Amino acid sequence: MSHVFPRHSRTPPRTALRGEGAYLYDAEGRAYLDGSGGAAVSCLGHSDADVIKAVQDQAARMAYAHTSFFTSEPAEELADLLIANAPEGIERVYYVSGGSEAVEAALKLARQYMLETGQPERSRFIARRQSYHGNTLAALATGGNAWRKEPFAPLMIDTSHIAPCYAYREQQDGESAENYGRRAADELEAELQRVGPETVIGFVAEPVVGATLGAVPPAPGYFKRIREICDRHGVLLILDEVMCGMGRTGTLFACEREGVRPDIVTIAKGLGAGYQPIGATLCSGAIYDAIRDGSGFFQHGHTYIGHPVACAAALAVLRKLTEGGLTRRSAELGEALDAKLRAAFGQHPHIGDIRGRGMFRGLEIVEDRETKEPFDPARGVNKAVKKAAMEAGLLCYPMGGTIDGKRGDHVLLAPPFILDDAQLDELVEKLGTAFRAVL
Ligand code: PLP
Repeated sequence: MSHVFPRHSRTPPRTALRGEGAYLYDAEGRAYLDGSGGAAVSCLGHSDADVIKAVQDQAARMAYAHTSFFTSEPAEELADLLIANAPEGIERVYYVSGGSEAVEAALKLARQYMLETGQPERSRFIARRQSYHGNTLAALATGGNAWRKEPFAPLMIDTSHIAPCYAYREQQDGESAENYGRRAADELEAELQRVGPETVIGFVAEPVVGATLGAVPPAPGYFKRIREICDRHGVLLILDEVMCGMGRTGTLFACEREGVRPDIVTIAKGLGAGYQPIGATLCSGAIYDAIRDGSGFFQHGHTYIGHPVACAAALAVLRKLTEGGLTRRSAELGEALDAKLRAAFGQHPHIGDIRGRGMFRGLEIVEDRETKEPFDPARGVNKAVKKAAMEAGLLCYPMGGTIDGKRGDHVLLAPPFILDDAQLDELVEKLGTAFRAVL
């Protein structure tokens, strides 16, 4: 009997034994093409020799030094390379061990910035429905999944939510993409007026929505307008790139495509690429300076922040994504994947939408293509697709979610950036096998 406390107590998982390239192998010897990089984590596949060597070398040289005493060479080098490639204005890197921690740190950093700058009345956040920002309490509060939050409602921080930018379901007939983007962004202005802009610390959003909607990019101009609204009211723009960052959408930071300058941006998943647990909260020089010149101390900090082995792994990953050209490859391969998905499923009676950027693609599953009517949630289509895909030897990331009472299922694809053409075909073919079994 296992003593591990699994995610799902009634369906204990198979044992994964080894990883090689784009494949994972279980203890029974079955191979799985990793079509979702776990949960958009394994951007380099599972046996990258350079990252493994970086981990081994750093662990042998020095495994750990507590950050209240020391910084370390890999932490410094990684921060330099991140900032050299970060959006304009982003100047500092605060390390953590994963995505929820990165968001949690971002929310606390934003609140502390308001205190340091004499704005203690700013005490709440605005985020979007149908978003996921992590499972720690404040991150959970900013997320938009009602069912995830419900049991912990008494423990939530004060956050309200506007609609996500979700053209497939929200753009109206005859409305241009630009006008829709503007209309969706203006919900932030309306919400600020409702709650009082002087009470708001920041607006939190994923540039390309991952788990909850399935690789949904924003409408053109949406984030530019959001930035204008934030600036008008002194509200911080916090972009959560835990899932969509680190080359996943074809640019190192997903927000590069939007041409906006966030005040805080969170990254994780692809940063360690699964070789080490690491995340980071990056912030503007203005935020850092306010704390340096104020209390001089960010009231946060965990034992494992800036872990040298994790930083060494992330540094090796980041070099591959930047100098090694893998972010460019994510953009190119993503176009090829999109074309193959459209050829295979573009006319599928139950695939309503195919979307995404780079190696971050989503397919929305509907009962009726014309009306966009979702399947009855009781059918559990997303779970059935996941199971059927695994039987076919494919890992993909199907989810169902509620949006204003409506439920849609989707499949999220986030494969490693190292697939070859035959593996792209294999992914699409196996997904087709899963769809045939379920839809
Ligand atoms: N933010 C986003 C956008 C995510 O997709 C996730 C995880 O899926 C998180 C935060 C939380 O990250 P973690 O699971 O590493 O805590």
